[in-house]
Amino acid sequence: MALLKEKGFLLDQQDKRVKEQLSKIKHKIMVMSGKGGVGKSTVAVNLAVGLSLQDFMVGLLDVDLHGPSIPKMLGARDLKLTRRPDGKLGAIKYSPNLKFLSIEPLLPSEDSAVIWRGPIKISAIKQFIGDIDWGELDYLVIDAPPGTGDEPLTIAKTIPDAYALIVTTPQEVSLIDVKKSIRFCQKVKLRILGIVENMSGFICPHCGKAIDLFKRGGGQKLAEEMGVRFLGRIPVDPRVVDTGDAGRPIVGSYPESVTAKAFEDLIRNVVSATEEMRREVLEEAFMRIAIPISTPTKIEKDINQAVLFALYDVEKGKILVKDVVRKPDDQDLNEFLKEQVATHIVLFEPTPELAERFNLLGLRVLATDEEKANPDDLVKEYIEQVESRRTA
Ligand code: ADP
Repeated sequence: MALLKEKGFLLDQQDKRVKEQLSKIKHKIMVMSGKGGVGKSTVAVNLAVGLSLQDFMVGLLDVDLHGPSIPKMLGARDLKLTRRPDGKLGAIKYSPNLKFLSIEPLLPSEDSAVIWRGPIKISAIKQFIGDIDWGELDYLVIDAPPGTGDEPLTIAKTIPDAYALIVTTPQEVSLIDVKKSIRFCQKVKLRILGIVENMSGFICPHCGKAIDLFKRGGGQKLAEEMGVRFLGRIPVDPRVVDTGDAGRPIVGSYPESVTAKAFEDLIRNVVSATEEMRREVLEEAFMRIAIPISTPTKIEKDINQAVLFALYDVEKGKILVKDVVRKPDDQDLNEFLKEQVATHIVLFEPTPELAERFNLLGLRVLATDEEKANPDDLVKEYIEQVESRRTA
């Protein structure tokens, strides 16, 4: 555990503002990739623009602090942050239902090299979310930098209910990176929305037809192997580069093209996957069960004394990950459970008042009077109950 932790009124206020903003956003999607150049920003931009064209309220946040590319791809470098009547800064308005934000308009010149230290990066990302008014949104699409470094980690911690969308290309090396990204998501407990295979097949610039020039389908196979959704494939299309450079995303500028149609399919799958993931929580097809423990095999009877928690991610009857997490001494239990995005909590003989306290946080309370039961067995037993109900 860290010996020193930065604390202060202003930091706490910032966290509060971040939470307020996030509560107004229905779905948060972090677009990530194992390495650069696979088309992560291209997918993020076309996904955001495509969703906005379907009348969703959308925000697009460029967290690539070192190489922001969203303003260029949107052709919106001249647009500025808006100031609202109450003095608060608003995200940049691209269209009536698409707002975006990038570090680029805040830099002195286009070529400014930005050197960020870790803590500053974290604070900048929190400011992007907490200090800028995003309003009510259906989707916030976040373009994270490649890899599994500071920024994706900050987003996972700041927006624990974000879903990860992983972009890959069909090449073997890129697919290996996907496994790394999936493992990262499991470690930081980000739920995975699915995988997109970009640069999959080739669209002939002359006849506009799809040609299977390169290997394709690796992303889909990997998705099946890893048990995550395959959200779609986007072909290699020279117009993606041209429209990206010209600031006119292909979904808006060539809506009839094969590539725009591929993005349309992707967007349809994203919309249904986000709705499905929300439903899964309601129907308990996805659960994150928290059990206060005193030792690895014993439940802690007094929740108010609990420091260690066993957390189980359960999807459609299977335990995907089990983890033991220590609640920081100075963290409120409610905050801790929210940060872990727990859906269920197991309590030892709770009073109705205690159960209600957790229900009000949006958690289902599972009660036990078996003080000697092994937490793993409690979870397995509950999974059986849920599954027989779900499949009845
Ligand atoms: P990343 O964000 O992963 O670094 P970008 O989205 O910036 O990648 O894309 C890298 C380059 O590849 C850009 O020039 C972009 O126009 C191009 N590109 C991305 N996707 C495609 C595609 N499907 N067909 C052709 N070029 C693409």
